[in-house]
Amino acid sequence: MAEGVRNVIIIGSGPAGYTAGLYSARALLEPLMFAGYMSGGQLMLTSDVENFPGYPTGVGGPEMMVQMREQAERFGLEVHDKNVERVDFSSRPHKVWVEGEEFQADSVIICTGAEAIWLGAEGEEAQKGRGISTCATCDGAFFRDEEVIVVGGGDSAMEEATFLTRFASKVTIIHRRDVFRASKVMYERAEAHPKIEIRPFRQVKSWTSDENGLTGAILEDPRDGGKEEISCTGAFIAIGHKPITQYLEGQVETDDEGYILHKADTMTSVEGVFAAGDVVDTRYRQAITAAGMGCQAAIDAERWLEDQH
Ligand SMILES: Cc1cc2nc3c(=O)[nH]c(=O)nc-3n(C[C@H](O)[C@H](O)[C@H](O)COP(=O)(O)OP(=O)(O)OC[C@H]3O[C@@H](n4cnc5c(N)ncnc54)[C@H](O)[C@@H]3O)c2cc1C
Repeated sequence: MAEGVRNVIIIGSGPAGYTAGLYSARALLEPLMFAGYMSGGQLMLTSDVENFPGYPTGVGGPEMMVQMREQAERFGLEVHDKNVERVDFSSRPHKVWVEGEEFQADSVIICTGAEAIWLGAEGEEAQKGRGISTCATCDGAFFRDEEVIVVGGGDSAMEEATFLTRFASKVTIIHRRDVFRASKVMYERAEAHPKIEIRPFRQVKSWTSDENGLTGAILEDPRDGGKEEISCTGAFIAIGHKPITQYLEGQVETDDEGYILHKADTMTSVEGVFAAGDVVDTRYRQAITAAGMGCQAAIDAERWLEDQH
């Protein structure tokens, strides 16, 4: 074992993790954080955050996350930029393994977020991060006056498409059905936009490219297998997110998609194990809601620890 039993181990370093770290450090719990493969979390991928209170002129995502880390470290949060590989919550203290080393804690706060789902169509891997993206906010500006497509039928797809009209000359929404999960207002806003065309009953079969990058996609009609080619130099996949819970190996209860379920306040199905942020959130997925839940989890952990003594 690496060291003595900690009060709190926090897994993940997005807004939820750093806020949990700040609160538990200020409560003198001497928390230990494993920041994971993406130190700072999803906001490291974005340039401007304009909806986090306290920044009247907006703030760069990475800048905000560096500030969150500094603020929590000032009160004693210990951060290791390493991944948790597995956990054992079957007995107390709870155990987590990092690079083969075992760490123990009375309580654990899980803040490992959720990642975007890709299509996995032929030719996708080579164009990831070049012509094909999962984030219009990050990459939209690279496609000024170009034709792009958005894949998906939910609110995210409508939002991404509408956002992309700021840059692109044309945005085509591709959806495999004619029923859209998007809310009526979001769908209608996209449908009414002169730069947006909505194409139902189409799915991406494969991507086409040349030495300069993405050139288009081969679309298939799922009803009859009919194919057609569409030209585009950018594509945005907006078909959902997957919570990062695989390393927990089913030791806390989740819903069918793997999102962690809260049993009492922010406590999971395991006593002393809490969860906060996008890893439990199927609805809001915002920095401020993740941070708010990180605060709740730290307070819940602190009170739970107090009750144990
Ligand atoms: C491009 C983009 C732009 C966005 N813009 C905005 C915006 O303007 N405003 C807004 O409010 N929201 C925005 N969001 C959403 C916001 O980023 C998320 O809601 C928020 O980051 C969720 O915070 P979180 O702490 O739950 O998880 P995340 O930020 O996803 O952090 C998850 C953390 O878990 C860690 N981790 C994963 N697995 C392990 C492991 N095995 N061991 C240890 N650590 C692990 C990762 O390293 C990461 O640090 C944006 C998202 C994206 C992708």
